Amino acid sequence: MSVSSLIGLTLQQLRDEVVALGHKPFVAKQLAQWLYQRRETDPARMTNLPRELRKKLAEQPLLTSTVITTEDSGEGTTKLAVRLHDGTIIECVLMEEDGEDGSPRLTACISTQAGCAMGCRFCASGVLGLKRHLSPGEILEQFYHIDQVLKRKGLPWLTNVVVMGMGEPLHNFDNLMQALTVLNADWGFGVGARRITVSTVGLPDKIRELASQGFQFNLAISLHATSDEQRTRLIPTNVATGLKNIIDAAADYFRQTRREVTFEYTLVGGENDSAADAGRLAALLRDFPRANVNLIPMNPVEGSGLKAPGTESVEEFSRALRAAGVNVHVRRKRGRSVQAACGQLRLRLEQSS
Ligand code: SAH
Repeated sequence: MSVSSLIGLTLQQLRDEVVALGHKPFVAKQLAQWLYQRRETDPARMTNLPRELRKKLAEQPLLTSTVITTEDSGEGTTKLAVRLHDGTIIECVLMEEDGEDGSPRLTACISTQAGCAMGCRFCASGVLGLKRHLSPGEILEQFYHIDQVLKRKGLPWLTNVVVMGMGEPLHNFDNLMQALTVLNADWGFGVGARRITVSTVGLPDKIRELASQGFQFNLAISLHATSDEQRTRLIPTNVATGLKNIIDAAADYFRQTRREVTFEYTLVGGENDSAADAGRLAALLRDFPRANVNLIPMNPVEGSGLKAPGTESVEEFSRALRAAGVNVHVRRKRGRSVQAACGQLRLRLEQSS
């Protein structure tokens, strides 16, 4: 057994490991409790495990990644840059908000790839292309680092998870599913599926595959445009997928899971933020049972040649959508000072190293 690959294993896989080491199968349940529910990374503290197993676990660090910077915006956003075992840098974010009932809403935003192959023009994650997929363990290790921040701040465990960090989650489908299985399971991290949101650039086949997995994850689709010509200009992968196909796949996702789908729309000044766009967007989503749109004013990325929308146009756009019966949420600009837009912190770190 390579101890460093334990995180990310399902209960059954942990069982196989402990049995192979000569321990009773029930030990796996205790191990999962320490690893996932308590996020304990010091085997010496796993007091109910057999001594031999503790010794084995202590042979090398349980976590393969380390935090290299922690930047607290002071306005509820803490961004971590994490170095993986091979030097690759990824990032994850903790967001603190007040929930509807006054209790804290603590959301982790996690990455699934180092870099990204999708090449969206407004996004910093794709600037250097895709470096590699993250393993299930690497995806999950981000929660250990975020948990340290929560503990330092005296905050409870996460209430929500959004897979909206670096990378295209559905492009790393199998590793994503393995990680989310552990994240969601009772024997795992125990985060309810309805509290987990997967955000995708819109890969129709993969959206349908996700729907068929039997989980009730929330789906967010990065639409960002109202015509194929416009979308292909912003999102190169649209050549192969097309708007209509994506919206159909989203409708299928809703039919199969009964989970509402959210459409993300990054407003880019002079590109997709006109009154005509708002009208077209409402029309595109007309047949959707309940259309939720998250408007994200673009966070300018150096060298993209694209600019943020004016405050006026954000307001007009959201007003027009609401008038058309769309459920609109404008994402507050947060964490700009800590470069919380996707991939920006990592890009700065990679470019300065
Ligand atoms: N690959 C996934 C996750 C990406 S990040 C996806 O495409 O959904 C989550 C959201 O942030 C996406 O909607 C993405 O398009 C958006 N985004 C990326 N860079 C941005 C920027 N500079 N300003 C505003 N939104 C951005």
